[in-house]
Amino acid sequence: STVLVSGANGFIAQHIINVLLKRGYLVIGTLRSEQKAMSLLKLFNHKNLKLEIVSDLAKPGVFDEVLLKYGKDLKYVIHTASPCHYESTDYEIDMLIPAVAGTQSILNSIKKYAPNSIQRVVYTSSFAAISNVKNAYNSSLTLNEESWNEDSWCDTLEDAKTAYYGSKVFAEKAAWRFWKDNQNSVNFSLTTINPCYVFGPQLFDESVSSTLNASCQLINEAVFSKAGDDVDQKFASLFIDVRDVAKAHVLALEKSNLACKRLILANDKFSTQDILDNINKNFPQLTGKIAKGVPAHGLKVCQYIATVDNSKSKNLLGFGFRSFESAVNDTVSQILRARTT
Ligand code: NDP
Repeated sequence: STVLVSGANGFIAQHIINVLLKRGYLVIGTLRSEQKAMSLLKLFNHKNLKLEIVSDLAKPGVFDEVLLKYGKDLKYVIHTASPCHYESTDYEIDMLIPAVAGTQSILNSIKKYAPNSIQRVVYTSSFAAISNVKNAYNSSLTLNEESWNEDSWCDTLEDAKTAYYGSKVFAEKAAWRFWKDNQNSVNFSLTTINPCYVFGPQLFDESVSSTLNASCQLINEAVFSKAGDDVDQKFASLFIDVRDVAKAHVLALEKSNLACKRLILANDKFSTQDILDNINKNFPQLTGKIAKGVPAHGLKVCQYIATVDNSKSKNLLGFGFRSFESAVNDTVSQILRARTT
């Protein structure tokens, strides 16, 4: 079967493509530039991967051409492409519009060119669609698959982080709305994957650069911290390993019990202090050279955030998630390998 994966060069998408190719799927990936396509093709070096250029998500009809070309052969679509960072001054232009328009655009192109062949669409949403920033820090709340970030469009124009959260919830809502409104015109069922902070190695060592994708950058900053640096004792969130995120996306294509579900991918809480404690414990060559903070204080910081009950998602997926230690250690080891080569 053939799968279309948007944002193919992204951190998460590369891991998804890797799992798909290993399971024998044919993959059509989309990305923004010829240069990125050339280097990704070289890294994968796999006959079952084809790449197509799809420029800016905000451009109307941007997915038409690729769906016209491959639509009849496609069975599945995984839409991962979306701005994923907090660096923006124009929140609507940089985040909200590309996220929402890109999602509507790919679904409209499916309706136009592949309404019958495509059986399942998986949208990479986020924990940001489950909770707004404020509720994520409300320790009296328990969030689950029925929870929503209820910020209005205007609420999300406050700062870049809030706007990113908005971009994810508005895009996810647009996907569900499209699916409900088009029951008679399309064949596919929709699944959304809602991961929290995604850690883990880049699929290829060659992709490690001085700055990593937004979530792994937290670990990168810890590795490049200096002894005596102040450590943020307020930030806490939840984590999931990128290899589990990739596996969940592929299972969402294959398992009928995952159709029409929102799946929260979260293993456990973590804080910046926990990242440092883990590195200081497991990488003796860095101990004394990087920040120490207040060892073991992480548990206290984690008490400031909401509880996430994703037992429903875990039961449906039916596999155990990788540990914090393995996600952080494998990320750090790769950064250190890149440092010495
Ligand atoms: P990356 O930044 O590595 O990947 C993002 C992908 O989206 C890239 O291919 C990027 O292209 C593409 N993209 C971004 N903006 C545009 C645009 N305006 N037009 C066209 N393409 C665009 O991030 P991740 O792999 O981490 O994220 C993938 C998905 O997972 C996103 O939807 C993100 O919101 C979601 N997610 C990520 C989490 C995390 O912790 N990493 C947590 C929860 C959800 P280019 O490289 O050219 O910029």
